[in-house]
Amino acid sequence: YNVLLLGSGGREHALARSIAKSPLLGTLFIAPGNPGTAETGQNVNLSASDFEAVWNFIQKNEIDLTVVGPEQPLVDGIANFLEAKDHPVFGPKLQAAMLEGSKEFAKEFMKRHSIPTAAYEVFDQENFDDAAEYIKEEGKYPVVLKADGLAGGKGVFIPESEAEAMEVLKELKTSDSLKEAASKLVVEEFMVGEEASVFAISDGESWKVIGNAQDHKRIGEGDTGLNTGGMGAYSPAPVVTDEILKRVEDEIIAPTIDGMKSEDNPYAGILYCGLMITAEGPKVVEYNCRFGDPECQVILPRMQSDVLEIILACTQGKLGETDIQFDDEVRCCVVLASGGYPEAYEKGKEITGLDQVEDAIVFHAGTREVEGKILTNGGRVLNIVGSGSDLQSAIDKTYAEVEKVGFDEAYFRRDIGAKGLRH
Ligand code: ATP
Repeated sequence: YNVLLLGSGGREHALARSIAKSPLLGTLFIAPGNPGTAETGQNVNLSASDFEAVWNFIQKNEIDLTVVGPEQPLVDGIANFLEAKDHPVFGPKLQAAMLEGSKEFAKEFMKRHSIPTAAYEVFDQENFDDAAEYIKEEGKYPVVLKADGLAGGKGVFIPESEAEAMEVLKELKTSDSLKEAASKLVVEEFMVGEEASVFAISDGESWKVIGNAQDHKRIGEGDTGLNTGGMGAYSPAPVVTDEILKRVEDEIIAPTIDGMKSEDNPYAGILYCGLMITAEGPKVVEYNCRFGDPECQVILPRMQSDVLEIILACTQGKLGETDIQFDDEVRCCVVLASGGYPEAYEKGKEITGLDQVEDAIVFHAGTREVEGKILTNGGRVLNIVGSGSDLQSAIDKTYAEVEKVGFDEAYFRRDIGAKGLRH
């Protein structure tokens, strides 16, 4: 099978590495990829937002399967476009990807199917006065305010007081970057608990859990400072006990896949359940329609089965016939970022020590190769993934390898996985 993988981050390098191991693979193309994916396949200069160009490439190179890494092309309907041409795609159609693409859609869906999540109300932008009224009447802080559409993690606010909440409403109405995503606003109850994510794979009919993880969204140690794309992750997460996992399967994943099917909107692809483990049990914070980055980097290396075979089974509606095997190792991923990220940072710094890493996998993200040298080319630059028989040894081994790699003004958190050690 010739495979086209869309995306260019650490997540896609992890996908490329797993797919490249399959004996079923012919040629793997990654569009646009990064210097890491170039070691596992052939990078091609192609934009996932140009569907026609993607289709031309597929025909010309006799691609048998397209795997979509990031959410944007899915929410833009790339799966619909390619499936209409009878081309197998791994990733949900746009109507199903609305579980991520519209928070209102996700919340109403969960309400219809009694899936546990925070209580909420939705308001149109023209009716933000009603939202203000509602927030004041409830009088419960913190309160959670979310722009309905995709906002790259920047559309969620958790004001601590009425005054702060009113400021956020004003900002959502006027900010150039948020106005559109915030054409509708979801006001949510604040849930108390520990966050974790559980990942399932589905062919629209049957589904299997493929792992769980905890990520670290904030830039600073102790989960402080600005939100980022993710500064590290580890898997499995002890907060997801067998008992919690059983509840996630019964109360969240099964009713989600069954509910989508019953609404003639079958969900096929990766279902990412972002959860709050509350005193009452697991509740959904958000759904994502694809792997998380960097969670993917700690989930996929655990899979011992042929990832390409499983993905193919998914696109053929045959997931139920597969058996997915995992190893027992714990994995930890530390993200090396450019100093300054998630605000302004410099690019083009030479990365050294990559050839010194022996006992970890290095997944590239924001890197670029120039005349044999690897340079920084983004905010999140590299992912170092180590493994061990328990969380402490996975953390120790990962950081020992992190120390070997460097570039000017490299930044990383030193407490990835510490949350898990507390259990
Ligand atoms: P975007 O759509 O802008 O990309 P996102 O999808 O990352 O944002 P969420 O995951 O829904 O947004 O929320 C971001 C973070 O806010 C969560 O990871 C969680 O820490 C916090 N959060 C969201 N909703 C709640 C809630 N109801 N109670 C407590 N914390 C919440």
